[in-house]
Amino acid sequence: MDFSLTEEQTMFRDLFRDFAQKEVAKLAKHTDEAEEPPVALLKKAVAQGFLAATVPEDFGGAALDPLSYCLLVEEIAKECMSTAVTLAVHNSLVNATLVKYGSDEQKEKWLPLLAENLGAFAATEPDAGSDTSRLATRARRTGETYTLSGVKVWVSNAALAKVLLVLAQTDGGPTMFIVDPATPGVKIGHREPTTGLRGVAINTVYFDFVEVAEADRLGEEGAGISIAQAANTQLQLALAAAALGLAEGAVALGRAFAIERKQFGVSIATKQALGNYFADCEIEAEALRHLIEYAAWLASEDKDVAQAALKAKMFGAKTARAAANLMLQTHGGYGFSDEYAISRLYRDAKALDFLGGTPQIGRVVIAQQVFEGAGLAIKP
Ligand SMILES: Cc1cc2nc3c(=O)[nH]c(=O)nc-3n(C[C@H](O)[C@H](O)[C@H](O)COP(=O)(O)OP(=O)(O)OC[C@H]3O[C@@H](n4cnc5c(N)ncnc54)[C@H](O)[C@@H]3O)c2cc1C
Repeated sequence: MDFSLTEEQTMFRDLFRDFAQKEVAKLAKHTDEAEEPPVALLKKAVAQGFLAATVPEDFGGAALDPLSYCLLVEEIAKECMSTAVTLAVHNSLVNATLVKYGSDEQKEKWLPLLAENLGAFAATEPDAGSDTSRLATRARRTGETYTLSGVKVWVSNAALAKVLLVLAQTDGGPTMFIVDPATPGVKIGHREPTTGLRGVAINTVYFDFVEVAEADRLGEEGAGISIAQAANTQLQLALAAAALGLAEGAVALGRAFAIERKQFGVSIATKQALGNYFADCEIEAEALRHLIEYAAWLASEDKDVAQAALKAKMFGAKTARAAANLMLQTHGGYGFSDEYAISRLYRDAKALDFLGGTPQIGRVVIAQQVFEGAGLAIKP
């Protein structure tokens, strides 16, 4: 078993790290304070091919293997979680879904646009969060056209997106549609005032009798939930990588502070209580890296990655939250000030408990696997 990166993966990682350190890091504080996505930075990401990171070369993409893509998200998240999540939602929820389920015509129509513009994925509704089967958004069919009406909430990237994937109820069941947000009847609503991830454009989106051609239905009628679940699996793997990046970023901040800060006449880094924090973070980050590597390997072998991605994401959320918490504690009262970056990481980490699904629902899915074959109905 070889755990080392290939030469190509090492080269990619260095390139991503360089971009993150030179371009992303300097904007992270401003992005959070201004509560705006870093638009100019995203243009630079386009030039690097990061908006088509995993898209096959046939459709103009960079065709990164799953582990290289995780390295991209990890390196960006080390510096700015908002930017990492913006890219992860775009690549994992939108591009990967179109690549997997789109017809050749749909790929040719939408993927080049998505190589230069963000996409968003609209499943959640005011009354349908964890339970996306109870959709109120309707798509009524007349001939070769569907008419969509409803409200979607928490749509990451919505305000900047040029492509929306929208889950709506049809007579044939929940169905996924590709929607151009410039279509009459689509309205981007207010941005959620969020605790963290303030640099992600998270908006409510209204659909008021929006006409969508049958040609823009993704997959069959009734296939929407399984498409959404597959998309979520892709996102979970990317979020695990983002969680690792955030945890590493937090440790870097805590380490630098602990070395500099003197109390009782010595650097606080010499105190065992704080050393324990760093040791715990180190172990958890290493365990998380292995969960990610395993899930990425399954994905690269086209094996079922759903459980591995879910476990990596759930462990990642816990790891990132714990690391941000311990490293904020290391900063003492300063960590509670927004002047110190660790405060942003602490707020951003919490989003991992919602994006890609909550840990409560995740545990149900894992319990279902544990009791598979026992004839028990384990339901959320
Ligand atoms: C920052 C952020 C970005 C997001 N981006 C997107 C996006 O781009 N696209 C999108 O479609 N959605 C997005 N979401 C929505 C996200 O997917 C949902 O928040 C998540 O699925 C949970 O739904 P909910 O918030 O409605 O909570 P609910 O489903 O209402 O749950 C509330 C609480 O009850 C718990 N709960 C619910 N049912 C059960 C049960 N059966 N057993 C035990 N506990 C239960 C949940 O775990 C949770 O703790 C985003 C959310 C956030 C916070």
